[in-house]
Amino acid sequence: MSDPTRSYEPKIIAVANQKGGVGKTTTTINLGAALAELGRRVLIVDLDPQGNASTGLGIEPDDRTFTTYELLLEEIELKKVILDTSQRGLKIIPATVDLSSADMELIANEKRSFLLHDALRQPAMEGFAFDFILIDCPPSLNLLTVNAMVAAHSVLVPLQSEFFALEGLSQLMLSVREVRQTANPELRIEGVVLTMFDGRNNLSSLVEKDARDNLGDLVFKTRIPRNVRVSEAPSFAMPVLSYDPTSKGASAYRDLAKELMKNNVRKAA
Ligand code: ADP
Ligand code: MG
Repeated sequence: MSDPTRSYEPKIIAVANQKGGVGKTTTTINLGAALAELGRRVLIVDLDPQGNASTGLGIEPDDRTFTTYELLLEEIELKKVILDTSQRGLKIIPATVDLSSADMELIANEKRSFLLHDALRQPAMEGFAFDFILIDCPPSLNLLTVNAMVAAHSVLVPLQSEFFALEGLSQLMLSVREVRQTANPELRIEGVVLTMFDGRNNLSSLVEKDARDNLGDLVFKTRIPRNVRVSEAPSFAMPVLSYDPTSKGASAYRDLAKELMKNNVRKAA
């Protein structure tokens, strides 16, 4: 439900999969950049203690004085923790390894599952007028990921086109169901996106068939191809959309952004 007293209500999407190396961070950065290219104002929340999204967007360790850790566990002025990136329209709340202790520190906190939800809905957030908030989750179904799912409207699942890809999915869906039953009944699945897809590889096609047979419309039509430019971009501290705008990877992420926006119009109607 949109609130008529608010001019902008960001759509909050958790990018989650408890498997590491499936393309969560890559998808968060590049989908964020693609939405920003389309004129949307995007915030990335780096919720992984590894801080790969922060590094991949060029946030130096020295500039990470205030991070998602402070956002969750302390009172912090938003303008101190929301940083610009080199990409117009794309901002980030960075993370450092400090966040790895948050999981433990939160256990005794009564509001432990709602900290990100509340932080992203504080009144000062309205001043930033974000259209999208993308949360880059850690490779685990821990309390940080639960915070992301409680804060989010939907979960976007990157699925690596390789063997056993679907196996972890049922566990992820179980977590989504649990969050729905407890803290966030409205949580939806935004979609499953096939990443590192290789059309010449039979296995990729088998995983795709398996995913579409089992999940139907939940699987995005857009597939993200395996593309070396995508994997090079983070070491140049930029999204592949800036690093190599005409690469296959960049154009796939642009397609994904358009598909996501189209789906959202349909869902809103
Ligand atoms: P996660 O955040 O799920 O752990 P990453 O986004 O960090 O996964 O991706 C894991 C590795 O795969 C990284 O080295 C990344 O550069 C690489 N990678 C991700 N997507 C692609 C792609 N489409 N083509 C080539 N390499 C990719
Ligand atoms: Mg990651």
